[in-house]
Amino acid sequence: MGTGRLQIDLDAIAANWRALDAKTASSVQTGAVVKADGYGLGVDRVAKTLAAAGARRFFVAAAEEAADVRTALGPGPAIFLLNGHMAGDADMIRDLNLIPLLSSVEQLTRHVETLPGQSFGIQLDAGMNRLGMEPAEWAAVRDIALTAGPTLIMSHLACADEPEHEMNAMQLRMFTEMTEGCDVPRSLAATGGILLGPDYHFDLTRPGIGLYGARPFEEATPVVHLDLPVIQTREIGRGETVGYGNSWTADAPTRVATVSGGYADGITRHLSNKGVLFDSATPCPILGRVSMDSIGIDIGHLDTVPEWLTLIGPHQSVDDIADTTGTIGYEILTQLGHRYTRDYTRGQS
Ligand SMILES: *Cc1c(COP(=O)(O)O)cnc(C)c1O
Repeated sequence: MGTGRLQIDLDAIAANWRALDAKTASSVQTGAVVKADGYGLGVDRVAKTLAAAGARRFFVAAAEEAADVRTALGPGPAIFLLNGHMAGDADMIRDLNLIPLLSSVEQLTRHVETLPGQSFGIQLDAGMNRLGMEPAEWAAVRDIALTAGPTLIMSHLACADEPEHEMNAMQLRMFTEMTEGCDVPRSLAATGGILLGPDYHFDLTRPGIGLYGARPFEEATPVVHLDLPVIQTREIGRGETVGYGNSWTADAPTRVATVSGGYADGITRHLSNKGVLFDSATPCPILGRVSMDSIGIDIGHLDTVPEWLTLIGPHQSVDDIADTTGTIGYEILTQLGHRYTRDYTRGQS
């Protein structure tokens, strides 16, 4: 096989949803965020798995993402749009029966004018300054909006992955004040917010990253395993170099394995001369730069040439790679490439 093998454990995703659901009271609904193709793992399989686990409320960013989710789920489950109702979205919102989370007076006006009677929610800004109506804006349209009957009022936490951050309590206070007296279900917590405790749970949670096995849900069951095939090996002598730009030079003879996989597959160049792959539990350093389609790996310390080397597995998580490269697990997952052979497994973990 000439490309990497990406294994995605659907049972682990279901287990993570149940574990996050169990962290909130039974009166709290647990949704599922499946934007960006289910965080890069394939929204069709992911959405079906989560629906089978019990999720009934799904979130995507844009209306364009919702068609695949609706096809996977059928007509029953609710699909919310985090980007709200953008110009040109009305047909998709109506035809796919989507619930936009309206984030401005402009969106509210657009929605009630183009699709009167179509479900909607309200998105408030509680200090993150990303999406949502600000307090003054909300105060001005609150009565009109509530009369039109929103199905949800939500906001989002900026620092929920840092439990001690003072921003959390400040945003909780602001969201509570802005929604005081509204007889509408409320939602504030994503994965990080669920872990902050019951004050943050309200009526519906919106976990994403925790479902896919990454931080801040430290207890998550790992979901992804990625092996790259060795396509050539060679012996090199002291003073020889590996890869583009001669950025690595051997200070002793060694054996180099070239594996199939590179930055075109989402394996970032920031791993050049820095990352490792694993032969079972043995780390094998990346030599030189990550190319578009291949990477040189030092296997001089191995007794035999392995057929595969593991980039993501029991000895190196998505978060470990993120730490090595100065990013977050979210980015590692959503960059996973489309040349891999994708193997949806069950109960590997
Ligand atoms: C992406 C997103 C989520 C999910 O967040 P995670 O940290 O992945 O759990 C929830 N709500 C909003 C508004 C988001 O943008």
